[in-house]
Amino acid sequence: MSWLAPDYFDRELPLSVDDRKEIRRQAWKLWFANRWNPAIYIVVIAAINVLGDLALRHIRGHIGQMLWWHWLIAAIVFILILLCSIRGLQSWRFAPLARQVVREQGFNICPKCGKRLRDATDCPRHGAV
Ligand SMILES: [Zn+2]
Repeated sequence: MSWLAPDYFDRELPLSVDDRKEIRRQAWKLWFANRWNPAIYIVVIAAINVLGDLALRHIRGHIGQMLWWHWLIAAIVFILILLCSIRGLQSWRFAPLARQVVREQGFNICPKCGKRLRDATDCPRHGAV
């Protein structure tokens, strides 16, 4: 599950499991504060469902009857696409909020990638922050 829901910031920050839980909780609060977020997630997941349904209809039109292993492959592909999409949505909409919370707690991390900068003002990848 850590692949699907990582911390989105430097793993080396001296934070306890409870600290990380609290950061996550506050980031979700911010996530819900933006009313677009639930709508974006629903639209993306609904679109994946519609496209998956269309793809399935198309495939059935070609091969006729679906055998059990056709369904199995379709289900696996569908779940993989869904998980990757959720991962992408989280990186896009949730990760910046988690980093914002960490920065508000006084940790100097890059807002773009979450890397700990310590005393530096520049991220090696993203420059000045
Ligand atoms: Zn960076």
